[in-house]
Amino acid sequence: MASGRARGFATGRALRPSAKILPEHARGHNRSLVLQTLYRAGRQSRADIARSTGLTRVTISDLVSELMSEGLVIETGFSEDVRPGKPSTLLDIDRSAFQIIGIDLSDYAEFRGALLDLGGNIQSRAELSLAGSTGADATAKVVALVETLIGRVTAPVLGVGVGSPGIVDREGVVLSAPNLGWEDEPLRRILSERFNLPVLVANDANAAVLAEHSFGGADQDLMLVRVGHGVGAGLLLGGSLLFGSRFAAGEIGHVVVGTGDGTPCACGKSGCLETWLAAPRLDARLAASGASGRHEILGDAGRHLGLALAPVVGALNLSEVVLSGPAHLLDGALAEAAIDTLRNRTMAQIHGDLRLRMTTLGEDIVMRGAAVMVLSGQLGVS
Ligand SMILES: [Zn+2]
Repeated sequence: MASGRARGFATGRALRPSAKILPEHARGHNRSLVLQTLYRAGRQSRADIARSTGLTRVTISDLVSELMSEGLVIETGFSEDVRPGKPSTLLDIDRSAFQIIGIDLSDYAEFRGALLDLGGNIQSRAELSLAGSTGADATAKVVALVETLIGRVTAPVLGVGVGSPGIVDREGVVLSAPNLGWEDEPLRRILSERFNLPVLVANDANAAVLAEHSFGGADQDLMLVRVGHGVGAGLLLGGSLLFGSRFAAGEIGHVVVGTGDGTPCACGKSGCLETWLAAPRLDARLAASGASGRHEILGDAGRHLGLALAPVVGALNLSEVVLSGPAHLLDGALAEAAIDTLRNRTMAQIHGDLRLRMTTLGEDIVMRGAAVMVLSGQLGVS
């Protein structure tokens, strides 16, 4: 599988993956169906699970015994149905049975990490100042941060999820993260060998869009734009992450918006989306203009975001755009100008219900997304 894995979609080159599930994979598939039903719906009886999965009562009973012996599923009491016969036992996932380590490497000043339960709730936090570390020093700090969190675990660890800046391939190799001085850094392998745990590594915006989908109430067709030191985005289509031909789907920061007569950018071009939107640039412009220019500066940034996003929203028929980053910059004139521009530049008939909003997950979005990667990779739930 690994050698033949095509770049891009998870299923390789097959646009329509075979629907046939081999017998040896059926049990794992059914197990994930049961877990996903309990994860999303909460307390359910065996009969409820059978109804919503379409599996037989015998299969459900068998899988539930297995999951209970592993401590993943527990009985939580009886249903209050007033139907005749004895009340049925309710089951749920024991969200405290395991812990997940979620790591966010996207801040340029510090690495942040957390211990999370299976419900994605943060139980303990740790930070490590980056202090300009790059290359092997930066990698050593990631290892140290994971080590700190492992020292605090109170339940078995399901896995480690990492959201990294830059371009990350499907094997968890950071192909390029200039701010951290990483090139072809095999972060997943280094961490899994060091800690002997399942490790998943993805781009920070990709982790963030997964968090928004699992915990932020987002749709299946969504673009999450992260604004910080730079600008990046994660794209979810039909509930699946889009990776692109070189794993750089969503890297819109250095797309020139307009006719290229804007401010020079670090990449050598002028008028890149980052020059309009990156937080340090906006803060500097606001500081220079004083309160009077605030609305115009943020509105201008929002219009350029709308200009950059309109063709993407149009081409992919997205239903939702979510912004993640400093609320004092994004929430208000900037978001309003962006949605106005998007509405003016897309067809009302097919994009009339398009929403643009701030994430509700705040600064924890990448750590919680890293946890979703582990939940989905290890249990098949999200
Ligand atoms: Zn640029």
